[in-house]
Amino acid sequence: MMEIKENILLSLFTSIKIGGKARYFCEPGNIDELREALAFARTKKLPIFILGGGTNIIIKDSGFAGLVIKLSGSFRNIERKENMLSAGGGALLSGLINTSISFGLSGLTNLSGIPGTVGGAIVGNAGAFSSQISDCLIVVNAITKDGEEQVIKEPKFLYRDSNLRDKIILCGDFSLKPEAIWRMEEQRKQVLEKRSATQPVGKKTAGCIFKNPVGVSAGELIEKAGLAGFRVGEAIVSEKHKNFIENMGNARGVDVFSLIKIIKEKVHTLYNINLSEEVIIV
Ligand SMILES: Cc1cc2nc3c(=O)[nH]c(=O)nc-3n(C[C@H](O)[C@H](O)[C@H](O)COP(=O)(O)OP(=O)(O)OC[C@H]3O[C@@H](n4cnc5c(N)ncnc54)[C@H](O)[C@@H]3O)c2cc1C
Repeated sequence: MMEIKENILLSLFTSIKIGGKARYFCEPGNIDELREALAFARTKKLPIFILGGGTNIIIKDSGFAGLVIKLSGSFRNIERKENMLSAGGGALLSGLINTSISFGLSGLTNLSGIPGTVGGAIVGNAGAFSSQISDCLIVVNAITKDGEEQVIKEPKFLYRDSNLRDKIILCGDFSLKPEAIWRMEEQRKQVLEKRSATQPVGKKTAGCIFKNPVGVSAGELIEKAGLAGFRVGEAIVSEKHKNFIENMGNARGVDVFSLIKIIKEKVHTLYNINLSEEVIIV
């Protein structure tokens, strides 16, 4: 029997270090344990939240009054099948990229430095430097919250979104192209250097807060609105990347939500543009 824990503090599982407790929390290591977790939630009529690396979410201070599921064990496996890599939904994206480089299989290197899991990257179509994870993703194995397993051959992807949000990603197959390992290592180095020059790497953040509106960068709008360094409690608009909010120490969810509201109102008043959140509010 898999252990289902109670009252687990979620701030520990997020990169911005914010969030109250989960009523229930479990880490299924295989499909049978995941089915057990889904049945538990069904019996108790609990809402479910799938937690990846917690790098693109802000959890409310009141926590989550349901079951949080974090895929572990065999859901973290990465396997090679010729020029294809198959990665579990709970595997780290960085692990997938490192594996692809060690095999000289190219297609994912531009995503180097994006934290979080393969499952989180797939549902949110994570991307950087004109590449996104959907570019080389060919098949997704998923399960619905009702327990129906699905093989999705043509998932639909949008900018930082997909039609997979209501499913649990078990595994993704990536079709990659042979490339010289040294060239990929060089590419990864350049990507990581660009990132640390432009993003508050190493700080407590949740990645980009807003999606870029068509044709304009959300960060630029926030900067032009004079909000760089603007602060509510211990939540502050990053000076390095204006579309990031940093937790300076003990920020609460309410501080971040107030800051988000202020930014949206000011940008709307000045530019008549409605910013919409990229970050998921739980
Ligand atoms: C410093 C920093 C830099 C970042 N840079 C980038 C960037 O360049 N580009 C970019 O796109 N993003 C970036 N992000 C945001 C974030 O890393 C990505 O969105 C990442 O893909 C989220 O994955 P995660 O596993 O952490 O998901 P989480 O934050 O845990 O969850 C995000 C959403 O995915 C869902 N989810 C997670 N796993 C699964 C699963 N197995 N099945 C179904 N749903 C699931 C969750 O329920 C939630 O709705 C950055 C974040 C940080 C902190």
